[in-house]
Amino acid sequence: MNVLVWNENRHEQTNQVVADLYPEGIHGTIASFLKSDDVTVRTVTLDDEEHGLTEEVLNETDVLVWWGHQAHDEVEDEIVERVKQQVLEGMGVVVLHSSHFSKIFKSLMGTSCDLKWREADEKERLWVVDPSHPIVEGIGEYIELEKEEMYGEHFDVPPPDELIFMSWFEGGEVFRSGMTYRRGKGKIFYFRPGHETYPTYYNPEVQKVIRNGVKWVKSTDNTTPKYGNAKPLETISEKE
Ligand code: ZN
Repeated sequence: MNVLVWNENRHEQTNQVVADLYPEGIHGTIASFLKSDDVTVRTVTLDDEEHGLTEEVLNETDVLVWWGHQAHDEVEDEIVERVKQQVLEGMGVVVLHSSHFSKIFKSLMGTSCDLKWREADEKERLWVVDPSHPIVEGIGEYIELEKEEMYGEHFDVPPPDELIFMSWFEGGEVFRSGMTYRRGKGKIFYFRPGHETYPTYYNPEVQKVIRNGVKWVKSTDNTTPKYGNAKPLETISEKE
């Protein structure tokens, strides 16, 4: 399986806390826990030519993992469209944290994707609400993060195909933290945690969920559906 980790990689250049936390960039940390004998991982960033998302690279990608925050607007519309076509044709995508506002996620959802937020070092408890789902294999009743940014409802997205995590925050809000969608032949997993100033991507359970998510969104090799005018499979008898 070929995984491509995309990161805007801007906080790492301008914020010392983030640079110290993620010396290889958030993409580097994510890549390091996704790599395995059967998973090849490449990383690309916003400042790469064509944001690292050339036709050639995308054609070789089974699953794209996306982390963006402050520079969503700098992603070229033409490239967003290219990524979207790949998703519709079956490329899986894992959308992390503040990428809820990325152009690609908004385009796939068709809604504002807006939400409530607050940075106050709050405890987050992500409750598993779909315990039989493959994305939560190996996870207990909940994941607890000592400090995270709060995201609160209402989250303006379409009703998901599957709701997997529901977060509770110390300040009282709740949030749908893990959701899946299908668009065309592609599968999408949105997973909330991962604010850049917290060590969230070093949490073994968060890592496990992202690994499971990558596996789950990978497309299956089913027969390509056929559309348009169709010849009958049987002789249609004339009705009297
Ligand atoms: Zn954040």
